[in-house]
Amino acid sequence: MIASRSFAGKTVAVFGLARTGLASIRALKTGGAQVIAWDDNSAAREAGHDAGAEITPWREWAWETIAALVLSPGVPLTHPRPHEVVSHAKLADVAVIGDVELFAREIRPDASRPGRAPVIAITGTNGKSTTTALVGHILASAGFDAQVGGNIGKAVLELAPPGPKTIYVLEMSSFQIDLTPGLHPDAALLTNLTPDHIDRHGSMGNYAAIKERLLHQVPKDGQVIVGVDDAYGAAIFTALSANGGATATPVSVGKILGRGVFAVDGALYDAQSQHATKVMALEDAPRLPGAHNWQNIALAYAAARIFVKDSRVIASAIASFPGLAHRMEDVGRLGNIRFINDSKATNADATARALACYPDIFWIAGGKPKEGGIAALAAYFPRIRKAYLIGEAADAFAHTLDGRVAYERSGTLDKAVAAAAADAAASSTPAPIVLLSPASASYDQFKDFEQRGDAFRSLVAKLPHDFHQNESRAAS
Ligand code: ADP
Repeated sequence: MIASRSFAGKTVAVFGLARTGLASIRALKTGGAQVIAWDDNSAAREAGHDAGAEITPWREWAWETIAALVLSPGVPLTHPRPHEVVSHAKLADVAVIGDVELFAREIRPDASRPGRAPVIAITGTNGKSTTTALVGHILASAGFDAQVGGNIGKAVLELAPPGPKTIYVLEMSSFQIDLTPGLHPDAALLTNLTPDHIDRHGSMGNYAAIKERLLHQVPKDGQVIVGVDDAYGAAIFTALSANGGATATPVSVGKILGRGVFAVDGALYDAQSQHATKVMALEDAPRLPGAHNWQNIALAYAAARIFVKDSRVIASAIASFPGLAHRMEDVGRLGNIRFINDSKATNADATARALACYPDIFWIAGGKPKEGGIAALAAYFPRIRKAYLIGEAADAFAHTLDGRVAYERSGTLDKAVAAAAADAAASSTPAPIVLLSPASASYDQFKDFEQRGDAFRSLVAKLPHDFHQNESRAAS
């Protein structure tokens, strides 16, 4: 754990007692602060109490005694409207910050404190977790103590304090960036930028501005690495290159860059110095299939290259990456049918990447719908043999698919898996894929995307082993 010492002797309020809130309480208490806390959920309050906070309803807080409010990134800061606790803090002139800000204050270069370690911060709409985990894997393979956390895995304050070989690799959501004005990472990555979470940010412009802010927080001697294949990324890269700040490296899939890192014709190229050199064949990274993952590979390579000089070490680490659960995860086979768990695809853009990978798909989709629905996926409709719609989005998705793709309203995931598997078995396609890539959030039927993906995995495991023959017989 990293102790948060910047509020020693003061009182800090923590609102929202899940993963990051609880870690903040422990770090603040260890660093010598008083902590008062609240969460609307009683189990969360109990956990906050156990972590060492004094639990007091937030409306009873004496704001004049509070030095800062540590807000969970899940609590609205600005949109659709600020949570009342935020409005009260602002009125009382109390800074509203997040757990990553507490972390940033600890690892700031400061002569009186030993132990400063480099920080790589990773953001973007899609590919953050994969890129973050991959950077961590490469650095660990190269002998660094890669401490990976933030929006993935451990909360940042739960990571180990800096040692001589430590590099922090942090995934940052837009909500976390909004609460972290004081993080000045040595390197920042923007994977890509497409509409998402617009309800929580008001507009695409505001969402993009928050992501961009992280890149501007990199000091002059640092590095920014930007995916330039979408219009927002390209514009942000151009602006960063022109402003005389940190060194900016562009990353592309499909475009040969005069300078930067790119993937073309099935290979990764490094053109950061004089001429482009081939780093590796992308088919050597079997757990990172598809053009979207090549983007993640190219971004992770560019970040790792700052610290690892031998590109062969990086290439072999990319090849040995084990993959992440719920992102194009191969969860089983029955006969010639493959089952792919892409539960993390909570927006249409992420699902587009999955649909692009296979020609014959039995597609399970739906959940809590996002703005725009699946209209943007029309180019992939010819790959879909049939869609199995679940959750609240079923009607809207059915409307988009009507007359273009065969579908059924399965309602629940268990019915969808059974029907998709049966249809795949009965089909004459040589390599059918049953794909869970919902293009929707999970909250209508599941706690989170992990629970949804775990349910899919166990439903697949429970399909009878002789299923393939049975279904074929049933179909004939
Ligand atoms: P994030 O942490 O940003 O949500 P993940 O790495 O967890 O990103 O991937 C989320 C989803 O987005 C997965 O379904 C995956 O297939 C898809 N995805 C991964 N990388 C990219 C990318 N570079 N561009 C678009 N989609 C991606």
